[in-house]
Amino acid sequence: MKVFHLSAECYPVAKVGGLADVVGALPKYQNKLGWEASVIMPWYNRSFTREHSFQTVFEGKIILRDRELNFQILKETQNVLGFDLYMVRIDGLLDRENVYGYDDDALQFIAFQVVSLHWMKETKSIPDILHCHDHHTGLVPFMVNHAHDFKELGSQLKTVGTIHNGEYQGWMGWEMVNFLPNFDIANGGLLDWGNIINPMAAMVKCADVFTTVSEGYLQELLTNSGAGLESLYQQESFKSIGIINGIDSEVWNPKTDQMLIANYGATNFVSNKKKNKEELCERYRLNTNLPLISFIGRFATEKGADLLPGIIERMIVERSGDVNFFVLGSGDPTTENRLKELQYRFSGNFAMDLGYNEPLSHIIYAGSDYLLMPSRVEPCGLNQMYSMSYGTIPIVRKTGGLNDTVPDVSEENGRGFQFNDADVNGACWAIHRALDFEADKKASQKLRRQIMKIDFSWEKSTKKYIELYKNLKK
Ligand code: ADP
Repeated sequence: MKVFHLSAECYPVAKVGGLADVVGALPKYQNKLGWEASVIMPWYNRSFTREHSFQTVFEGKIILRDRELNFQILKETQNVLGFDLYMVRIDGLLDRENVYGYDDDALQFIAFQVVSLHWMKETKSIPDILHCHDHHTGLVPFMVNHAHDFKELGSQLKTVGTIHNGEYQGWMGWEMVNFLPNFDIANGGLLDWGNIINPMAAMVKCADVFTTVSEGYLQELLTNSGAGLESLYQQESFKSIGIINGIDSEVWNPKTDQMLIANYGATNFVSNKKKNKEELCERYRLNTNLPLISFIGRFATEKGADLLPGIIERMIVERSGDVNFFVLGSGDPTTENRLKELQYRFSGNFAMDLGYNEPLSHIIYAGSDYLLMPSRVEPCGLNQMYSMSYGTIPIVRKTGGLNDTVPDVSEENGRGFQFNDADVNGACWAIHRALDFEADKKASQKLRRQIMKIDFSWEKSTKKYIELYKNLKK
């Protein structure tokens, strides 16, 4: 059976967050189980596309409202990712460096979706399953079911829509409707939520099934974290399922990770894990002998990044300088500025790297003692799974995928430290507990060994997706 994944991101081609990690892994593991899975994504002018060879497999033209767009479908020739990678290129629209952040984002993603469907139709490359990821591909289930040009696709395939992040829904004004292929106006309501076009809502309404990246997050979407779509999620919940993400052990494995200073496994982690810490501490002038607590991620409200300055300041003061913090990320300028001030005030105890740095993130997962995730909302969260695989104990807010994957140490088979309240008090309470726990070296090493052995592999979740696809095709 054949599945096409449609996505704006895919690791290592173009990554902004967890969406890329999932789309770079799931198809690979589906292929290992005998499926024929491919990825279709927009073309980006990035190092991956410059450094790999591509062949044009199809060329054509579409008209969106008054814009005539010539496009190419490019296929990566060496199968370096473990699946066929197709990229949609349109000069001047889908040939840019960044994934998001352009004024015409909406038009870019409409063009990407329309071209992908046009190509499938023209070349009769029709998969059994069209798997759409997040709002950037959310109009596809609507189009294959209701756009005159694509209805024949809809009669032959099933659609799955996965919500990786329900906070972003791709809202666009109704004037954009003229860029969509023609459909019966009576069906227009399927695109609408609150008098604007909402691609995420359209995906949930029109896909044969919608999924979320953890069971806990699905429940939260239905109740309080649906960013305005709660009632829709409830209405459509009969066709929903939560499937937790896995981690790609070919990329995230401390035994083989090429980005680490020294590799290690669960049985021999102590000295080599420390070498990564020494490297990190030396680079950023931190004291290697103090416990190191790190944060990696976007400075966004959902990640609770705005709490970091308050947490770091209070913990360093309350622990009389006996703890170190490291932060990698960027985003909200106020948080960035407050952290810069703290770095100056607490040099030697707190350091940070503003920006996106994949190799550094691997060293942080390996070299830290604890990873802090004060998220307000966390659909799945991959960081805590990477950190556990690298023997780094997570300190997490009890929400979504974090609650599903990191039971508190006070419970049987606990894996880390949880806190309830998304505020400085809540986080500091959990960090104090972690630091007290750290004083008992034997216990903390035992926990590190245990969490390194947990199986977070994609195999289990891949099987669940396949089961889902099979049920749809029955
Ligand atoms: P998100 O909501 O951002 O997608 P996830 O936990 O699902 O959160 O995935 C985050 C992914 O992005 C992880 O692979 C994490 O290591 C990576 N990441 C986030 N910020 C950075 C950064 N500044 N530099 C390097 N990697 C980052």
